[in-house]
Amino acid sequence: MTVTAILSALAEEQQGLLEQLQQPRKVSHGGRDFWLGELHGHRVVLGLSRIGKVAAATTATTLITALGVSRIVFTGVAGGVGAGVRVGDVVVAAEFVQHDLDASPIFPRFEVPLYGKTCFACDAALTGNLFDVSRTVLAGMPPAGAKVHRGLIASGDRFVSSAAESSNLQQSLHNAGLDVLAVEMEGAAVAQVCFDFDVPFAAVRTISDRADDQAHMDFPKFIAEVASGYAHAIIGKLFQTL
Ligand code: SAH
Repeated sequence: MTVTAILSALAEEQQGLLEQLQQPRKVSHGGRDFWLGELHGHRVVLGLSRIGKVAAATTATTLITALGVSRIVFTGVAGGVGAGVRVGDVVVAAEFVQHDLDASPIFPRFEVPLYGKTCFACDAALTGNLFDVSRTVLAGMPPAGAKVHRGLIASGDRFVSSAAESSNLQQSLHNAGLDVLAVEMEGAAVAQVCFDFDVPFAAVRTISDRADDQAHMDFPKFIAEVASGYAHAIIGKLFQTL
């Protein structure tokens, strides 16, 4: 039986999904609460990673090894970095990089030591479905004109909240041949864990801020008003395709 984990960083991002969960049952592991149940006829586990790469990695490991999930879908918010990636747009991850990983000069900057890899790719089929359903959902929901992008997301243990930091980050990744659409704090960790365990992974992030000097003000407002609604609409439609 396939069990899909829906992982989010913050309670507000999970709220809409939790309200729809059928036969909910709570279990606790490693200091985390998980909700088991059914969504749209599929067995699911809803989990909250909390914020940051370590928290996300331990949560993903627990989902796989203790709760036996067969795939993980991350829903959350992110700061827009790429040109044309605006607040209210959605980014579906094709792959992830850790923007704060730097073991140079021993390894090339951004490469994950001993993996021989810089980016961890998401599952192509699941990501394709997520991209298609995100486009359908956004076409029928305000704000009009919001776009769905697909590409590279960078994760790191920093809330990026100045235009200078955002453009430095974008430039140094670009110098390494990587063009980033958005920045957040968990995805690359989950992608690496899923690679280790050979578990399909996909991620969708709504853009809550532009990772600039306004980010700390835009972020909470957006979370409360929009992100939770998007997450449950997109996941609901995704299950119709699985
Ligand atoms: N002030 C918030 C802090 C949340 S940190 C609070 O009180 O809860 C931001 C969360 O949203 C992280 O989980 C991260 O993945 C994502 N995120 C959104 N915008 C971001 C940005 N500009 N930089 C880094 N992470 C961002």
